[in-house]
Amino acid sequence: MARRGQMVVVSGPSGAGKSTICKRLLLDPRIVFSVSATTRKQRVGEVDGRDYHFLTIEEFRKKVEAGEFIEWAEVFGNLYGTLRKPMQATLDSGKTCLLEIDVQGALQLKAIGEPGIYVFIAPPDFEELRKRLVARNTETPEALERRLHKAEDEYQERVKYDHVVVNDDLDRAVARVKQILGLDEPART
Ligand code: ADP
Ligand code: 5GP
Repeated sequence: MARRGQMVVVSGPSGAGKSTICKRLLLDPRIVFSVSATTRKQRVGEVDGRDYHFLTIEEFRKKVEAGEFIEWAEVFGNLYGTLRKPMQATLDSGKTCLLEIDVQGALQLKAIGEPGIYVFIAPPDFEELRKRLVARNTETPEALERRLHKAEDEYQERVKYDHVVVNDDLDRAVARVKQILGLDEPART
């Protein structure tokens, strides 16, 4: 019988450092990324099937109707969802399945009682969050303001998570998440 792996949900406000932390976590072969489906446009450098499964709105809606998503949400005008099948396959393989999803999605999974470790990545403060989003240079000024406004609401939800990790120093934040996952010792070969 395959050992069931653990699911870890990493979420938090835009700009808090979720992607940066997840990239570092994925250097560990015991952790597998859950590739979400989305209707947003593919960005330069992104690979279909690796970063996301890029779908049309019709394709996404069909999967919603077929019950293929364990959670899905509209985030900043686009649809995003976690596919059940690949997530189950990772868990059956005994590996840690890493979901990097927004707060609405994380709370949906919590609400259905999906077993896992729920980690909220928090910025040190909102001024630093603004600085990071400005430095990332991916948003128009209006989109940036929208994300900051939403971040304040999302921050209130941190109490619903199992752990809050403040991403002040990146190395420290990554080490803390690995410790939470029980993966702070190197993999045995
Ligand atoms: P998210 O995925 O939560 O939207 P990102 O991972 O894209 O956030 O991080 C937002 C920006 O902040 C990026 O430019 C990233 O390089 C930077 N960043 C992430 N973590 C830190 C940190 N600990 N200290 C300083 N800058 C950071
Ligand atoms: P981006 O478009 O910048 O890659 O992601 C935008 C937001 O969508 C991020 O907060 C990211 O965590 C979230 N997201 C990515 N995949 C999923 C998913 O499958 N479900 C949900 N609910 N949110 C997702």
